[in-house]
Amino acid sequence: MTTTVARAVPRPGPVTTTVTEPYWKCAADSELWIQQCEDCGRCQHYPAGMCRSCWSENLDWIRAAGTGTVWTFTVVSKPGHPAWEQDTPYVLALVELDEGPRMMTNIIDCDPATVHVGLRVQLAPHTPGSEQPPLQFHPDTPLPRS
Ligand SMILES: [Zn+2]
Repeated sequence: MTTTVARAVPRPGPVTTTVTEPYWKCAADSELWIQQCEDCGRCQHYPAGMCRSCWSENLDWIRAAGTGTVWTFTVVSKPGHPAWEQDTPYVLALVELDEGPRMMTNIIDCDPATVHVGLRVQLAPHTPGSEQPPLQFHPDTPLPRS
């Protein structure tokens, strides 16, 4: 059961640009979309105006599977912004998506002490309108919760 507590400080939202707007629109619907180069086929995240591999500007959007592996992580106990103070400790991770790119996200629904490099994760279900941001990951097999 999740308990909602009013935040003293609201969370800042994303700042969108014409390049990132498609990503954030899909993220609001809990869908992870990444760019794929139409010339070399490489996928990339975060969104950019050109391919980081071949510099082509022919980029398309594909829906990512929402699965990946923890590449590195840290357990945050002192957040850089007071809006996340009541969430501590939480796991901030770089997840290597199965499509290739790495994505900064949170690992939720488990004890932070159980997270490790190489942990298989998947997109966690998200309720639109809830306070939790979309596109967070959780272990693909349940781990103990704190
Ligand atoms: Zn390319």
